[in-house]
Amino acid sequence: MIYAANFKTNHTRKSTYAYIKALNEKLSVKKPDDKVYIFPPSTALDRYKGDFTIGVQNAYPAYNGAYTGEIGLEQLDEFDIKTILIGHSERREYMAETQEKVAVKFAFFQEQGFEIIYCIGEPLEIREKGFEAVMKYLLAQFNGIDIHYENLIVAYEPIWAIGTGRSATVEEISTTHRALKKVINSKPLLYGGSAKPANIKEIASIAGVDGVLVGSASLNAESFSQMIL
Ligand code: PEP
Repeated sequence: MIYAANFKTNHTRKSTYAYIKALNEKLSVKKPDDKVYIFPPSTALDRYKGDFTIGVQNAYPAYNGAYTGEIGLEQLDEFDIKTILIGHSERREYMAETQEKVAVKFAFFQEQGFEIIYCIGEPLEIREKGFEAVMKYLLAQFNGIDIHYENLIVAYEPIWAIGTGRSATVEEISTTHRALKKVINSKPLLYGGSAKPANIKEIASIAGVDGVLVGSASLNAESFSQMIL
């Protein structure tokens, strides 16, 4: 299983250090095949040591340059960051990242050999229209994306389940993952949306779920480690 923690705009550099120290103490007994990723805010990026991979939540598709407020490859290289989240619904919605922009970012970081966790997910009004509408919406989020890229991990995150405390049902996750797996073949497929210690066993047991992308329940090292162990 893959366990990915997305801190979003939470935690400081200091609290990320404390988090990683606490997590490291727990991870000594994790299953060797399980993989852990942590996506702290950009201000907390560093060369942390431990049985996990640090990734960046976002970056601009350039080495460096005049992109006020953004970070590029030069800033990521400083900490050997080679993993990035792309296409998260919050960036698509709040930062107005269109599919075209997302695809440009994907192509840039693919060219750099980054491991990409590529997020897709539908809003509630699409889910309410039925499964066909959901799949049409999700497949459109692969426009311009090389789904054969070797370092690709896909995360299916229904927007209505993100940060709401209400995870998708086993049936919803399993039918959606089954259909997505046919499209992305052997690529790992994560589920995201209110995954937490109380439902992780159920989610992890669903066929086609290779891991979870976790927001709220990852903010506390104890809660995140309970999901992993
Ligand atoms: C997310 O935003 O990627 C996410 C899964 O958040 P949460 O776990 O809080 O629903």
